Amino acid sequence: MLEFWMSHGQNSERLGAAIEREGIPEEVQMECPKCHTSEMELVVFEGIEVDRCSGCGGIWFDAGEAESLKQFKSATEIDTGDALEGLEYDSIENIDCPRGHGKMKTVVNPSLWHIYFEMCSVCNGVWFDAGEFTDYAKGDVAALFRT
Ligand SMILES: [Zn+2]
Ligand SMILES: [Zn+2]
Repeated sequence: MLEFWMSHGQNSERLGAAIEREGIPEEVQMECPKCHTSEMELVVFEGIEVDRCSGCGGIWFDAGEAESLKQFKSATEIDTGDALEGLEYDSIENIDCPRGHGKMKTVVNPSLWHIYFEMCSVCNGVWFDAGEFTDYAKGDVAALFRT
């Protein structure tokens, strides 16, 4: 992780300082892997920061964030994108990790076979198209009730 941030030349000193202070680099320009806008907005929910694309409504979760967030019933509030639009973007495959790790792999949730999402095998971050996180979060709640 550190190597990646540091390799980005410009601002590397500032980023290095941010890593030491916060553990997480701040204000790193991220590009949406689906619609390629750089208009990613930082959304904070229960202290967890996720990046949501203001173009297509897709959401990037760093490793473990989606898991942590789905425990909050109201976490689906962050999924403000248009699910219909999300379906369109869902057909775009072979996207690159927005953290710069190359191609992501498609993961199918075995208990929710109709939902698949992209995961980076390097940083374990995941990408949900608009509406997918809602399905993901709700699906697991329903699964709990079945047992
Ligand atoms: Zn986008
Ligand atoms: Zn990655």
